[in-house]
Order: sequence, then structure tokens, then C-alpha cells
Amino acid sequence: MSSSGFASQNGAGATYANGPSQNPVALYPTNQGYMAPPQPGYLNAMPAKEPTPPAPSYYNPSRQQPSPVAMFQQPLSLPASPNHRPALVPPTHTPPLANSFYQHPQQPPSWPHPAVNQASPAPSPAPPQPYNTGTSTPPVFQNTMQSPALVPPYSSLNNAYMPAPAVNVVAHQSFGPPQAALRGTLPPSGPPPPPLATHSDGPYSAQPGAMNRPMGTAYPSLQPAYQSVPAPQKPAHMQPAAQPYSTAAPQQYQQPSVSTAQLSPSLAALNLQSEMPEALRVVNLLQERNLLPPGAVTPPTPCLPQDLQRLNCSPEVFRCTLTSIPQTQSLLNKAKLPLGLLLHPFKDLSQLPVVTSSTIVRCRSCRTYINPFVSFLDQRRWKCNLCYRVNDVPEEFMYNPVSRSYGEPHKRPEVQNATIEFIAPSEYMLRPPQPAVYLFILDVSHNAVETGYLDVVCQSLLDNLNSLPGDTRTKIGFITFDSTIHFYNLQEGLSQPQMLIVSDIEDMFLPTPDSLLVNLNECKELVQDLLRSLPQMFSKTMETQSALGPALQGAFKLLSHTGGRVSVFQTQLPAVGAGSLKPRDEPSQRAAAKDIQHLSPATDFYKKLALDCSGQQIAVDLFLLSAQYCDLASLGCISRYSAGSVYYYPSYHNHHNPSQTERFQKDLKRYLTRKIGFEAVMRIRCTKGLSIHTFHGNFFVRSTDLLSLPNVNPDAGFAVQMSIEENLLDMQVVSFQAALLYTSSKGERRIRVHTLCLPVVNSLSDIFAGADVQAIAALLASMAVDRSVSASLSDARDALTNAAIDSLTSYCTSVLTIQQPGLLAPACLRLFPLYILALLKHKAFCTGTSTRLDERVFAMCQLKYQPLAYLMLMVHPALYRMDNLTDEGALNINERTIPQPRVLQLSVEKLSRDGAFLMDHGMVLYLWIGRNCNPSFLTQVLGIQSYIALPQNMKQLPELDTAESSRIRAFIDWLREQRPFYPILHIIRDESELKAEFMQNMVEDRTESALSYYEFLLHLQQQVSK
Ligand SMILES: [Zn+2]
Repeated sequence: MSSSGFASQNGAGATYANGPSQNPVALYPTNQGYMAPPQPGYLNAMPAKEPTPPAPSYYNPSRQQPSPVAMFQQPLSLPASPNHRPALVPPTHTPPLANSFYQHPQQPPSWPHPAVNQASPAPSPAPPQPYNTGTSTPPVFQNTMQSPALVPPYSSLNNAYMPAPAVNVVAHQSFGPPQAALRGTLPPSGPPPPPLATHSDGPYSAQPGAMNRPMGTAYPSLQPAYQSVPAPQKPAHMQPAAQPYSTAAPQQYQQPSVSTAQLSPSLAALNLQSEMPEALRVVNLLQERNLLPPGAVTPPTPCLPQDLQRLNCSPEVFRCTLTSIPQTQSLLNKAKLPLGLLLHPFKDLSQLPVVTSSTIVRCRSCRTYINPFVSFLDQRRWKCNLCYRVNDVPEEFMYNPVSRSYGEPHKRPEVQNATIEFIAPSEYMLRPPQPAVYLFILDVSHNAVETGYLDVVCQSLLDNLNSLPGDTRTKIGFITFDSTIHFYNLQEGLSQPQMLIVSDIEDMFLPTPDSLLVNLNECKELVQDLLRSLPQMFSKTMETQSALGPALQGAFKLLSHTGGRVSVFQTQLPAVGAGSLKPRDEPSQRAAAKDIQHLSPATDFYKKLALDCSGQQIAVDLFLLSAQYCDLASLGCISRYSAGSVYYYPSYHNHHNPSQTERFQKDLKRYLTRKIGFEAVMRIRCTKGLSIHTFHGNFFVRSTDLLSLPNVNPDAGFAVQMSIEENLLDMQVVSFQAALLYTSSKGERRIRVHTLCLPVVNSLSDIFAGADVQAIAALLASMAVDRSVSASLSDARDALTNAAIDSLTSYCTSVLTIQQPGLLAPACLRLFPLYILALLKHKAFCTGTSTRLDERVFAMCQLKYQPLAYLMLMVHPALYRMDNLTDEGALNINERTIPQPRVLQLSVEKLSRDGAFLMDHGMVLYLWIGRNCNPSFLTQVLGIQSYIALPQNMKQLPELDTAESSRIRAFIDWLREQRPFYPILHIIRDESELKAEFMQNMVEDRTESALSYYEFLLHLQQQVSK
């Protein structure tokens, strides 16, 4: 879990007074100067250096001897052999083993993001290079990032990247029939946007003059932004060593060398302990009950030599499901584990090295950015770690601005930081960076006004108007709609805002195209006038219809020249005009139907419009506030394909549902003030031999590996699946690089680059030893969402179960040398069955419960969008006991003491009536108070005299001046600070309505429609033994 907090609006645009020629390198502590006025949720960002949480001794030595039989809820006798296994609750549906995610190594890029290369079917010549590079070798325009109409096909010099069509064709077979309506490639309509920028820079010119420039003045000791990541096992590796920048003389090139012995996890462990590594310790899941580490589950550390691992990318930003990459696809197939990356590329970082340089050094062949894992053959040449081409070191790069010495290219910040940001020179733009443009579309129908949401939005905007990321060029506009569309003329000089109503929603037009988007600074008073009067303007409205589609069409027209961000607030099913929808949720079918219908969109209107928006650099964020069905499966497409985000507040009402209102307020504040990148594209490259084939998240795949992100925000996660196209036989390490090119809200073109390096292994046991169980579960969740839509929910559920069965079978048959009874897993995968069961019970995939269709679809959106750390809490919440908090092992942050209670299993057997327990579900916190709860807790923490006095709908802990009260509030505040959204707190008692919800998250317990954890293990064991 991050200890960096969310305080920093890093890189949001400092005063970069020093031009490139003056200050080629500078490290900007990115939490300076970008802070919006204090944001309560993110106020207390932890400093970069924190005492790490207590090391997760996964197997607490003090734990009780496992006595499985007694401890399980159901009195079961442990089966002696598979043949006598009591089939307690035979699964209602035994998954056919054939239904697996791994049948075919080539997974399809399934419905959400078909790679579309609509613009240029045939290879086209590289665009003329506008800049004289002064070099004899013409640069390769392989990674040209351009407007859709100009996108050349990915004809690569680097055969690691296969052309998209080939991948697509193979892929379709395994994931079931594609959804016709969705798969169609939908070229953005309308005129091609102005050429935006090119991702390929030319100048590799030796610049003899470069050396003489005054160089950067300050470069504080290079501290990768993620140094605070707890790495309990090997803290030393994560702490960057002091950089000896003072060395004057050119040094020997000590590129970290890799020897096979160092890379094999099992061998490495053998050297140390002459024992099996902990990750491979055999765990009998049926016997060992206490599987959760006391604190957060930490990702495995790749088995790399220290000097490489020290430089590696933070797992908070970049994670791989397998931290040891199999040498061949057949080995990967044998392991039956998914191979993929999980990214959080624009995460708020407390420190981020930012480089201004007129030369961004990249591989001439594959356009990889120079990074810590390239090798220097000598002072003048470096070898690309992705395609192995040998490149020249440009003259300018020979100078190290950090040590102010010459001849140390390997000590440049680009080679010392796996996460770095460049301020891009003009070569990276084909049009000037656009201003920040914000357009708000507000539902003002009777239904919407009745919820009172308009007051909250307008007030929040008024409060945060000065904190919207941007500069003097920032533009803003408003549209409201019911059955007609209302535009607002806010042009300077008007005495008050002017409303312009367009009632012809069939043929959308802009009434006064030039005055609807205005400069925020120049027209701030009119904007404030409008925000103050909007809630009253519609208070008497009787208009019930919603013409969302036409309103979006108007927004598209309004922003098509600049791009920008559209924020839509919608409270009902859109019923008139283009994109109108019909109710599809059938309450009677929610619980009964084994297969849930209507998970796919009812119309392609929203997807088509999103693609048009994407082409014009417009992203649409959707806030859905509704008690009724709104068909999120259809509406959500507008955000999914335009790289927007979706927020959902079921049963929103200002008065009837105050906790939703509180969450909405906090979310809005974060949303309005967080960092934003415009006109963005992200490309993920990997070492030759590896190939990316499926992407998960909100974006549009512009070409094979280029994601179009009209907006990028710090709270968005992404995942990709990979296959091994060519054997990695003579490779000891492989690398992955994500490069995000964006326009900052201050109008700077910037490139954020993350590079991850991982070892290659050739044995199954090493693959298993490096398995990252959380990353695996998260990737499988995304794959299962796709499967639910492209095939069926039951298919997806079977595939999830089979993922566990297949990998444990592979482990038992191919890794274990001695067969033992029980259900065996390597220690690193011991949580795998638990996570799979948690996914099966998750709102997205559960069956047999009455889950509203929109809530299910939203849960699916979350699984594909949330960064890993938050996603895991939503899948498997953390449970803590709260009535006996102590300072033992507490963190000390900014002079606050944060208790660190142990994480408990999600089972009612862990609850006791004399205690109080907190469940952290990511978006929601539940504090359950037992009926016989310790009276001192009631008085000292809740401020009540007895359990009877506990109010039904308590949402806040009173601020009492007691040690107990401070401890628990410090802990809850700390939990909240670590995520970008605001979890609401429900204090519940036995009679509370929410108790059922709380109990539903007890993943290990049996419910009417789902197996207990133990029963699930028995089911897995039966299948594994087959
Ligand atoms: Zn290369």
C-alpha cells in the first residue's frame, strides 16, 4: 500500500523558468506548489520516508497450531483420500475443465478494445520529418503518434510487435463469439483532427555546443519516487544508494551483469538457505488455515541481482503477474498462470525526477527510451534492452548534469531512474499543446432536480473553481438538458449568463459557437453567477425526459477543435433523442437466472460517439446518480472508449441518503482538483519475443500497441495480457516500458516513462516461485469481465474456478516431487483459491443473489479500471478488530501514531459479540459493533453509554478526547488517505439494514447460494486430483 499519499499534484506544471538550454535536468519535488487548497481526504500525505509497516511474517510464529477440523464452521472431518471426500454441497455447476483462460495462448483482444487500424490499411511512408536532425542516419518513424487519420500501421522493425490483424484472427477462437455490435471497428467519423503530435523525435545530432551550456544547478540525491514502498523482505534493495556523483573521472562501465545463478529464484534461495525458497514452501490449504499476512499483502520482489532490482520500477506503478518470465510459451502454457502487466502509470507520486533536455535519447530501431536496464558497450554506444540494437550515445548525453562531469552517460538520471518524466521538445507536438478545457453537462430534469445533486455539483465547483488544473488559458462551459438542450453564453461583457435553448434535438447545432466555451479567468464572475443560480433555475421544472444523447452530441461539437474533458451528470435512463434507451433490468430475473442478460450495450451509439470524441481528444466522465435502472452497460461506453471514468451513486438523494451525498462531495473535490493530462497516448513496449495482445481499462486502442487517452488521470489503472511469441532462450532478463505522452494542464508536452525489468527462467518451479498472486487475481478479474460479456457469466465463473484448478494441478504434477494428500499450493499462491472465491462472490460475478444490473455492471467497470491496490480491497476486504487497538507496532507519521491491527480472515468466526470490527471494502468502511461490546469502547470511542443507545445510521465517529478515540480515528483517517476516493463509514449494529451487506463480504463463509471457503477448497481438491 502506498505510503506516498495523494497530496502531490506532481508534475502539474511548475514554474519552469529555466528553458531547456539552461537547466537540462532538474528534479522537482513534485509536491510543491501544486497543491490545491487542503484536501481533507489527501491532506496528510505521508512523507517519502516512512517506517515501513511491520514486516509481513506471513506465517506468524505465534499462531496456533492449525487444527483445521475444529476451526472450520462446518464440522467436517478431513478427508483421508479424495475418494472419501464428503461432498458437502456439490457445486451446482461443475465447471468443465475445458473452459479455461489458458486453452489458447493467443487470447483475443476481446470486445472492449479491438485494435483498430482503420486509418491506414496499407503501410504508408513515414511522414516527412519536419526537423533537421543533422544526422546522417535517418530516424525511424516507427512510433509516430498521430491523429487517427494519419496513423501509420505498425510496421515494425522490431518483430516483437506483431501486426494487429494476425493477433486478432487467432484470438477470436478461444474467447467465444465476439459481440457483433461491439466488435465492429468504428472509425471516428467527422473530419480528421488537426495533427497533434509526433511521438518520434529525430534529432540524434551530436551537438557540440551542448556541453558549454550552463547546466542544471541542483539535482538532489536521486530518490526514485517509490522509495517509500515497503519492501520488508529486502529493504536495502529499494533504497537507492547514495549516488557518487562527485566522481570526476570517467568510470568503468559497471552495468549490472546478470548471471544465471543469480536469476534462478530457487537456486538463489538454495545458496542462502540450502532449503526451498519461502515462496515455494508447500502449503496444504486444507490444513493451514491462517493464510493472511498480518498486514497488506506485499508483491514479490523479482529475483534480480541487487544492482538491477535497486533501480527497478515500483510495483505500485508497474507489476507483472509473473515476476519470473518463462523462457517459452510452452513453459507458460504448462504453468497455467496468466501472463500480463498491471499498470498505474499516472499515479500521484511524491517525488518524480523531471528532465528537460533537448535530446531525449531513444533506440533508433524500436524507439525505446533509454532506461536503467540498457547496457553501455563503451562510453559512446549503448545497447537497447528491448530490441538489442546498438545505438550511439549523443554528445549531449555524455555530460552528466548531476555530477557536472563529462563521460558518464550511465549516470545520467535517465539511466538511474526506472520512473522518469521528460519535458518534451517541440518534436513531440504537431499542434501547440491545447489549453485545459472543461465542459459540464448537467441533467436538470425533474428527477434530477429532486435528488438535490445540482446543489452539490454547483457548490463544489464554486469551492474549487480556482483549483481546477490549468493556467490562464483554461476554458470552461456548461450545458444543461432535459428533453431540450440548454447552452450558456458566458461571454465577457454580458451582465448575466444567457441561456440558449435548442429544442431540435434531432439535428444538434451550436447556437453561438464562439461564446459557449469561455476563458475561466476572464469570465469567472459570470461562471460563478451561473453556478449560484442553476439550482434554483430548474427547481419548479416538470420536465421529466432526458435527452442525454443529443446533449453529448452538442458537447462533441463544442469541444471538437480543442479537445478536453466532458463531465456528465445523469440521473435517469435517457428516453428521447439519439441514444435513447429502454429498461432492461428485470428484477425477477436478478437472482433466478443463472446467466445474467444485458451485460452488453443495447446500442452502439455511445461507443461510436466515444470513438468520435477520442479522435478529437475529448474524454467523457460519467457521474450516474440514480435510484432507477439507467443501463450503465450502454451508457458506460461513452467513458470506456474515450478514456473517461465512471462514478456511480445508486439511490442518490441529498436528504434521504446523506452518506452517498458525502461520498459524492468528496469524490467531486478529488475529481475537480486532481492532476489531469490531455491529448495523451500510452505505448507499452516489451523485449523482443514478448507480445502484448489484450488491453484492459478505459481507452481506445489506436493501433496495435498505442492506447489513445484523450484524458489521463492519476486514479486510472490498466492491464495487458501478453504471450511469448519467440523463445527467450539466450536472455537472462526482459524489460517492459510504458511511455505516456500527454499535455499537462499548464500546456506542457510531457512524457512519463516507466521501465520494469524481470528475470527469465526456464523451470516451472521458478515460474511458480515468482508468481504475484494479487496481480494474477486482478488480471483474471479483467479477463472474466470480458468473458462475461462476450460469452456468459457462468462461462466466466467457470473460467475463474478453472484458473485455480489448472495452476494448482500444474504445480502438483510438475513441480512437486513428492505427492502428499490435501490441496497443495506453493506459499506464494496460497491466497489464490481465496481470491478466486472472493471474485466468484463479488458483485460482478455472483449468482443467486438479487444484484441490480447497474450495480453489477459498475462492479465490472471497477474491476477493469481500478489500480491493483484498491481493486484488491474491493475483491477481498480487510477486517480488523477495533476495540483493543494498541500502539504496539504502530506507524508514526507526521507525529501521528497509526495503530496497525492485524488483518483477520473474512469469517463470522472471527467476530465476537464483545468486540468491534472494521471492514475496509475499499469504497466503504463498515464498523460493526457487537451486542456485548466492551462498555469502555462504547463510551471512549462512540460516546454512548450502552449498546442500546447506538443510533441506527451512525456515519461518523465523534471526536472524543480519549486515547481509544484518537487511535481508531487515526487508523481510519490513515486508511482513507491512501486512496483517491473517499470511503464512507457505516457504523452498524445487529439490527442495521447494512448488516446483511457487511456479512455478505464474509468471503470465507457459506451463503445460500455460494460455497464456503473450505467447501470451495474441497471442490478444487476433487478437480485437482482427477
Ligand atoms: Zn530498441
